[in-house]
Amino acid sequence: MAGESVDGKFVWVDGKLVPFKDATIHILSHSMQYGGSIFEGIRAYELSDGRSALFRGEDHYRRFLDSMKALGYTCQYSVNDFMKATAELLKANQFKACYVRPVAYIDERVRGLSLPDPADVKVSIAAWTWGKYMGAAGDVGIRAMVSTYRRAEVATSLPWAKIAGGYLTSILARREAAKNGIAETLLLDPNGMVAEGCGDNLFMVKDGIIYTPPPTYILPGFTRDCAMKIAAFLGYPVKEAPMSRNQLYLADEIFITGTAVEIASIKELDHRTIGDQCPGPVTRKVIDLFYKSTRGEIPEFRTWNTLLS
Ligand code: PMP
Repeated sequence: MAGESVDGKFVWVDGKLVPFKDATIHILSHSMQYGGSIFEGIRAYELSDGRSALFRGEDHYRRFLDSMKALGYTCQYSVNDFMKATAELLKANQFKACYVRPVAYIDERVRGLSLPDPADVKVSIAAWTWGKYMGAAGDVGIRAMVSTYRRAEVATSLPWAKIAGGYLTSILARREAAKNGIAETLLLDPNGMVAEGCGDNLFMVKDGIIYTPPPTYILPGFTRDCAMKIAAFLGYPVKEAPMSRNQLYLADEIFITGTAVEIASIKELDHRTIGDQCPGPVTRKVIDLFYKSTRGEIPEFRTWNTLLS
């Protein structure tokens, strides 16, 4: 399902570019044992003038640092350091359009759960070329199901932090869908309302209004933010509201957003056809402006692209 991918020859590891095969950690590192590594997923796009730009790069690196703060980690790098490192990495790998994967982890080979104090992280940034995550299906519409797995209660989880261990539910949900021959899965929140996909956010269009679940049980993604701003720019009312699976079955259009998936429309949910056409007219317009914005073609959204070359 996932698009073709080619790994970069170099990985940035704590200030140095090292060959791909040397970017390794010990199996007894604290993060490896307990799932406490932090990650991000960012795309670089080739702009229409041929230069390369990181899309929402500063936002992603700020979230990277925020995820570390939420877990109690300390990091010696700033957003600016990460942006420079990414420029260096893409240059060394000769990539213009690619996926960038920063990872922060506790390398200490501690025994037991306690974090070292201070919990200083090491940081690596890898990059690979990655085409359409959902292949052509993302453009013509995918089949989705509501998962039997749920997003966790917020009292015992950190939904805004991209912590590896938090992704086990997403992995189980994705596997369940794949075994059912279905491309995407939507997880309910603890109240039974539909929260988000396993690595993406959810939108529904009904009678010309665009709805998306509030940022309580979800990771409020930057692609979600782009879609909300693009929809408002196009003149559609956008509302954050909890939504039930019954509401989704009766939606005119449903689409999902995320850095990997970009924007993909859902043509069928739990074996019910959604709306009359897929992508529907609203989704089509949002997708069109989104891809234009990734190429730096919409002056109002030009701040989303940070030049790397
Ligand atoms: N929700 C989850 C659980 C995710 O992992 C992601 C991917 N980061 C998203 C939503 C979408 O976020 P973004 O648009 O910032 O990639």
